[in-house]
Amino acid sequence: MSMLQDTFGRKITYARLAVTDRCNFRCRYCMPAKGIAIVARKELLSYKEMYRIIRVLTELGVTKVRLTGGEPFVRKDFVGFLKMLSFNDLLTQINITTNGALIANHIEELEKLDKIKSINLSIDSLQQDKFAKITRRDVFDEVYKTLQVLEESSLSLKLNVVVQSGFNTDEILDFVALTEQKDIAVRFIEEMPFNGEKKRTSSDNWDYQKILKKIESEFSLEKISVEKSSTSYNFSVKNHKGTVGIIPAYTRTICNDCNRIRITPTGLFKNCLFDNGVFDLRSFIRKGASNEDLKELFLSLVKQKPKNGFVAEANRLNNSSFESMSTIGG
Ligand code: SAM
Ligand code: SF4
Repeated sequence: MSMLQDTFGRKITYARLAVTDRCNFRCRYCMPAKGIAIVARKELLSYKEMYRIIRVLTELGVTKVRLTGGEPFVRKDFVGFLKMLSFNDLLTQINITTNGALIANHIEELEKLDKIKSINLSIDSLQQDKFAKITRRDVFDEVYKTLQVLEESSLSLKLNVVVQSGFNTDEILDFVALTEQKDIAVRFIEEMPFNGEKKRTSSDNWDYQKILKKIESEFSLEKISVEKSSTSYNFSVKNHKGTVGIIPAYTRTICNDCNRIRITPTGLFKNCLFDNGVFDLRSFIRKGASNEDLKELFLSLVKQKPKNGFVAEANRLNNSSFESMSTIGG
């Protein structure tokens, strides 16, 4: 049976699917304050189309899917879609990335779906006022409540913290301190220029090395070996229950072992976060493509996967490297 493999021998087993471009937050590193133009509803893939795309991908070797957005829980009946996706017997894991504001009441339902193993909760500050400045929404209490409910749940919990110069670098050690009593993974993400504006928000970039140095100024870390395709470098912290990780999203030192492809909310297929969207799956499907057509297409598209994110960025057709993560799917 044909399986998805690129020209560098990397097997593609992981799909990230953004189910919507809409979001209830306006995080400063992701979107401008007034938001960005959202697409018409009919331009979004339907749940049926998404189910079909994922089904075909799993028949070609994909076993894990991450659902993201925009904010996935903003899309109507997202939990229904999770149930639908759970019927795919070839999928072993369904993971979700969320800002957490709308999900506290859904957690029991999520626990019942055995393919959902882990939730990534984005939380960039542990201080209410700063959280509001970063997200441009005053909802810290809701998000922190979600954190607490998730901690008590059977789902494993990862916190995503985008490290932003001048905003939350003074809280890096506070986030690491959380792992002393909580069995959670705190992952610091290098900020990328995907903010929907044509500029970076700061010139003082906190990269992997700088973040690591800061953590090691206070804590004793030991590297944990994880699967090769992990997006983060991970560490245990002496005498802590939880772990910390750093995601080199911008310095891109993890590309060699990449096993991922992405589908945007409008159905663009992307081999890399930094590429331009290499194929319009929505039109292909709506013009009547069969599952066999889709299979052939995917097998050939992954052959275009660039060696790494720098090559992908250099190959972009235009200079639009500053779109919002909410339209790409984070
Ligand atoms: N709305 C959900 C959330 O915030 O978790 C899911 C979508 S969001 C685009 C997915 C992840 O991308 C979040 O952890 C977010 O913090 C991260 N992200 C968004 N913009 C980013 C940027 N410019 N640089 C680094 N990470 C970013
Ligand atoms: Fe919304 Fe997530 Fe982007 Fe924040 S990071 S604006 S929560 S999509």
